[in-house]
Amino acid sequence: MGHKLQAHNLSHGMETIFKKIIDRKIPADIVYEDEHTLAFLDIHPAKKGHTLVIPKKEFENIFDGDAESLGHMMATAQKVARALVASLGAQGVNIHMNNGKEAGQEVPHAHLHIIPRFVRSELFPPPPHETYEDGESASLALSIKSALQ
Ligand code: AMP
Repeated sequence: MGHKLQAHNLSHGMETIFKKIIDRKIPADIVYEDEHTLAFLDIHPAKKGHTLVIPKKEFENIFDGDAESLGHMMATAQKVARALVASLGAQGVNIHMNNGKEAGQEVPHAHLHIIPRFVRSELFPPPPHETYEDGESASLALSIKSALQ
């Protein structure tokens, strides 16, 4: 799953729903904006206050975004996370990013989900875990390490 595959919507000039929100062509409950990012409420919140942080620069996800733009997103995520604590009394937040259709990404404009969390009983069910065979994790770690060099 390389960025060339992931970038097809942008290279074909299709405007995403998030680009329309940036350009104020469609409404959103915007909570924060700066030179590089925009933050607004998700219309289908996992928890009330669930906020999306997006870059103003158009890229699809972790694969084609530059490190600086991804950094701007995380800096805004920190501001939003603190605001969710201060305004809604959140006791924690989940931050997640879906990268690629197979990972559940529906909107092809990069975004971080900031989800306020209140009490432990509300925790999402933990995902099922896989188990490594003998030696498998060492071999996988080696493959990943090689790809990072
Ligand atoms: P993802 O599956 O990571 O691509 O998440 C896309 C998110 O965008 C979903 O949680 C949607 O509820 C949210 N979403 C889609 N359209 C809008 C919109 N117009 N305003 C706010 N949130 C939206």
